[in-house]
Amino acid sequence: GVMTFCYTGFFCALTIYSFLTLRKAKLYNFIMSKLLLDQAYVDTLTEIPNRRSFMAHANQQLDATPREHDHYLAMIDIDNFKKVNDLYGHDIGDEVLKRIAADIKTVMSDFEFARLGGEEFAIYLAGVRREDVESLAGELCRVVREQPTRHPVTISIGLTRVLDGDTLNQALIKADKALYESKHTGKDRYTFHG
Ligand code: GH3
Ligand code: MG
Ligand code: MG
Repeated sequence: GVMTFCYTGFFCALTIYSFLTLRKAKLYNFIMSKLLLDQAYVDTLTEIPNRRSFMAHANQQLDATPREHDHYLAMIDIDNFKKVNDLYGHDIGDEVLKRIAADIKTVMSDFEFARLGGEEFAIYLAGVRREDVESLAGELCRVVREQPTRHPVTISIGLTRVLDGDTLNQALIKADKALYESKHTGKDRYTFHG
């Protein structure tokens, strides 16, 4: 009788222990996979959304119908950034990248923005008018230019209106062409495509 009692107690305890351990492992897995998923959408250096995040969210906004106002796409590239790296080193270059990301976050907080890679950023401006886009782009150039810092830089911006039939990639190509225009007309400015 005593033996049966002991065995039953032992197996009960073992079952409860296994159950609790399994539950803990499951919870741990859940937290870890959520953390990894979050990290997959964030740029490690600047801690703003990355290209993957941008493509997903901008595509969602692009597909959303009906459009109440126009949509615009902005491509941003730091001017003469290679010089910053060459003059002050890669670490200062990274600091500048973080600073620009913070400036974009401040000025464009209402929109989807991301670091696409390297020294390139993009913003998807949904539901805006051309005047709004102009003033936001001008403001961003100004904020970056007038930032009190030992390593001043400027940025160039290319803008395009996202047309009804446009895919995100087509719009990105147009914004990139406009960016090229900004670079070739003196930098530190924004240009509209077409
Ligand atoms: P432009 O005004 O025509 O854009 O000239 P630029 O010098 O900015 O252009 P270029 O494309 O020649 O240089 C881009 C540089 O950006 C080259 C590369 O070393 C640097 N870069 C890209 N990614 C990073 C990064 O994560 N950290 C740092 N520090 N530098 C980076
Ligand atoms: Mg570049
Ligand atoms: Mg550049």
